[in-house]
Amino acid sequence: DAAKMARRLLAAIQQPFSIAQKDITLSASIGITLFPSNAADVPTLLQQADAALQSAKAKGGTRFVYFAQALSANQTERLALEADLRRAIQQNEFVLHYQPQVDVRRWAIRGVEAFLRWRHPTRGLLGPGQFLSCAEEAGLTVAIGEWVIGAACRQQKAWHEAGLPPVRVAVNLSPAHFRHQGLVETISLAVQDMGRSSEHLELEVTESMIMRDLDHSLKVLKHLKALGVRIALDDFGTGFTSLRELRLLPMDAVKIDASFIQEAGAMEGSPGFTAALITLAHSLKCRAIAEGVETQAQLEALQRAGCEEVQGFLYSPPRTAEETTQLLTKKPDPQARNRPAA
Ligand code: C2E
Ligand code: CA
Ligand code: CA
Ligand code: CA
Repeated sequence: DAAKMARRLLAAIQQPFSIAQKDITLSASIGITLFPSNAADVPTLLQQADAALQSAKAKGGTRFVYFAQALSANQTERLALEADLRRAIQQNEFVLHYQPQVDVRRWAIRGVEAFLRWRHPTRGLLGPGQFLSCAEEAGLTVAIGEWVIGAACRQQKAWHEAGLPPVRVAVNLSPAHFRHQGLVETISLAVQDMGRSSEHLELEVTESMIMRDLDHSLKVLKHLKALGVRIALDDFGTGFTSLRELRLLPMDAVKIDASFIQEAGAMEGSPGFTAALITLAHSLKCRAIAEGVETQAQLEALQRAGCEEVQGFLYSPPRTAEETTQLLTKKPDPQARNRPAA
């Protein structure tokens, strides 16, 4: 059986041998999983064996560990989620929800940001916080990112064909996808099929993503800009990019992080800091979008500070494609309660 084999292997590997008159002793750690009782497909089996191997090493090495012994309940659940994730794309379980980005003066929708959701067959609707880190570990980020870009552009096409006025669709890029060499081509192909000009696709990137390798990032961003798509800097104000470096980035918009908007009294009491971020955005020749706007007071302070667009529960939470289509079909209501004073 497997244990007997593993013992024989370990013993054989530990036999000293010599190369060029030097005695050499090796040791090994072994992770074991069983086919077909633990899994029936190769990627899952390899992953289970790897998890068992990590556990063998963690226990000091020079030993073997069975997959079943290796795992806490938590890890088992995580691996089940990973196996589910591998199927989710083929099974059509991902959907995008959309949240409006609204012009603060006209209270009209200028764009929508796409948020990934997973309609899990047994766990219900999951948000990105519940599965993206797992997807990252499973090496699925690029595949998921490609699905998101394709889905967002297909939605653009559907809105175009339904005769709706054009809006931007913003898509969040993951760090791994941003580093991936196929990104520019994926986007180039997707925008060709969108039914709108490429400026109607906005890509959201974060400072930490870009600063990992600034030179390479600048090249990628230039290629993307050459396609005509827009770039937005997400979570603005939370990173460590120097002002000198910020000026190098070919951005069209910065998104002021919700933490600045929602900080107690940030807008009412001392709007100075958020206003400074908005001024900085403008001096970078960028449109400012405030995220996480939940109250009328926040909206009015942002309007006074010259912020162009807001996004948040005040106007609408992220909604399904169907609900978003209805929002986009509706004419803006001049009597709307939350409309800022002109
Ligand atoms: P983010 O891009 O900063 O998105 C903002 C998050 O705040 C979203 O959560 C959104 O649903 C939520 N939100 C919107 N308005 C409000 C508000 O007024 N108040 C509050 N408290 N929250 C609000 P969500 O959808 O759970 O997404 C979380 C993060 O996951 C996103 O942060 C983004 O970094 C990532 N993400 C979402 N979709 C995708 C995707 O398709 N691809 C990748 N790579 N990442 C994604
Ligand atoms: Ca975002
Ligand atoms: Ca954000
Ligand atoms: Ca955020």
